[in-house]
Amino acid sequence: MALRKIREIGDPVLEKVAKPVTEVNRKIRELVSDMLDTMYEADGVGLAAPQVGILKRIVVIDVSPEQDSPIVMINPEIIEKSGEQTGGEGCLSVPGKTGVVTRANYVKARAFDEEMNEFEIEGEELLARAIQHELDHLDGILYTTKVEGDLIDNDKE
Ligand code: ZN
Repeated sequence: MALRKIREIGDPVLEKVAKPVTEVNRKIRELVSDMLDTMYEADGVGLAAPQVGILKRIVVIDVSPEQDSPIVMINPEIIEKSGEQTGGEGCLSVPGKTGVVTRANYVKARAFDEEMNEFEIEGEELLARAIQHELDHLDGILYTTKVEGDLIDNDKE
């Protein structure tokens, strides 16, 4: 198990556009495995490669309560979205804060797995929110730019 340092808001790497992965080699596999370790250790439901300082189009997501259903998405793309949900959102790169963001309630995405096999995934509610949030990271977009109203400080009662 290897943990990577999570970059925080203010770090310019979080505002850059990540590059597509052309080949899954040993380094990429190691990165994916470290991203999963880092996400679980931080109790997150998703992590994008730029959040650990790597500008590649890779995200990992796990919205299951048991945290035993990792989804690895390489070069992901949203191909369909519908509906709307408004709710609280947080980000491992913006520690201690949450904010209200409106997103699509349903998305269908296409991505490649670690064998570079293409797959599609559909999600609603939390999974749809996580997919949209993580894919935004690949384009240098933080949820803080989409928050309605103020960011809420979780530490304050
Ligand atoms: Zn995030």
